[in-house]
Amino acid sequence: MTKFTPLPSCADPEDKNRLSIDAARQRISGLIQPINSWQRCPIRDALDHILYQDIISPINVPSHNNSAMDGYAIRSDDMTSESFNLRQVGIAFAGKPFKGEVNTGECVRIMTGAVVPEKCNTIIMQEQAQSHNDTITIHGKHPKGNHVRYIGEDLKKGSVVLKAGRRLVPSDLGLISSLGIAEVNVIRRLRVAFFSTGDELISIGEVLQAGQIYDSNRYTLFGMLKRLGVEVLDMGVVPDQKSLLRKTLADAAQQADVVITSGGVSVGDADYVKEMLAELGQVDFWKIAMRPGRPLAFGKIGNAIFFGLPGNPVSVMVTFYQFVTPALRRLMGESQQDTITLQVTCTDAIRKRPGRFEYQRGVLYTDNNGQTKVKTTGSQGSGILSSMSDANCFILLDEKCEGLAENSLVSVQPFSGLI
Ligand code: AMP
Ligand code: MG
Repeated sequence: MTKFTPLPSCADPEDKNRLSIDAARQRISGLIQPINSWQRCPIRDALDHILYQDIISPINVPSHNNSAMDGYAIRSDDMTSESFNLRQVGIAFAGKPFKGEVNTGECVRIMTGAVVPEKCNTIIMQEQAQSHNDTITIHGKHPKGNHVRYIGEDLKKGSVVLKAGRRLVPSDLGLISSLGIAEVNVIRRLRVAFFSTGDELISIGEVLQAGQIYDSNRYTLFGMLKRLGVEVLDMGVVPDQKSLLRKTLADAAQQADVVITSGGVSVGDADYVKEMLAELGQVDFWKIAMRPGRPLAFGKIGNAIFFGLPGNPVSVMVTFYQFVTPALRRLMGESQQDTITLQVTCTDAIRKRPGRFEYQRGVLYTDNNGQTKVKTTGSQGSGILSSMSDANCFILLDEKCEGLAENSLVSVQPFSGLI
């Protein structure tokens, strides 16, 4: 892979070796081959898994013409005027079909979901009919075929219902079960190991001493990984010590498909991750023309894919969403990765210097006139993690943007579309 010579400082505004976001994504996707091993599992366990094979419908759904309404099943030939009488000859319930004949001038009382009796082809809603003993009087005009749900109208026998490479969502579980299928083949779960680096970090449960902070990155990483449906392996906090970093990285790469670290990828005196990686694997250090999240390490340690994310809590989340998420989804064999962006009015003025792409944190909301708008979460420092909790979208500001006046049109990426 291409090597980049690190420049003196990550904050160097003149840095010409910075990689664009698209170029970084392309390099990452070039190194990633989807895993090809699969497992069979009951459909409930398949939620959030990626389908390994197409699901082909073994049956028609519905498997018979049935009624969409409670009412009367009639023969459309009998609709000779705008008011006519028919004789009720039986009742059809959902799950209990009417088995007799329906002759001219006759009808069957029918419930929603019941099989439409042979020779009948139209349903009259019960609100449009009056019954006196066995005589049913129907008023008004009713199109032939009204309120009939036809055989195979949802899914045809032999058709591809869901394609391989699809992430299964709740409606898919219903769809698969409507075909009578109990188990499916899915891509096996990815195993992702992660840890935080930094002498200043302590784990929750310990008492803070001067200069220490609680490790939060491991928890945001845990949450984002869980949402992606991967198996997580939390390797804890590793201090800035070469031997411990070397050992933890090697252990993690042995056990997982992907290893993710946070911190220590910048150019500080205690940023040892780089040195260890040069020993253990093939890893590039990139400076990306984005904010937050400029430094990023990416490569391989043994067979494991490695991501060295920056240490600042917001940078961790932004680089995870923008680079790690698409990479993991590709590795998992997910074929379609749509990220939705919307154009909306931003009611706040935005400060920005040109040169880097910015992911500012925003709040999408609906104003009193029913218009969708966005405002910012305020201060945009990369250490202000509360901005991520307050936000429900990223406001996307390209390299050239030099800030915006209030009520300008901006592109936003809703969080719900990210994972
Ligand atoms: P670094 O990239 O290691 O220089 O870290 C950059 C900033 O992020 C420093 O202020 C760190 O204290 C902070 N930081 C690094 N790792 C974590 C973590 N796991 N949780 C919270 N803050 C962190
Ligand atoms: Mg550090």
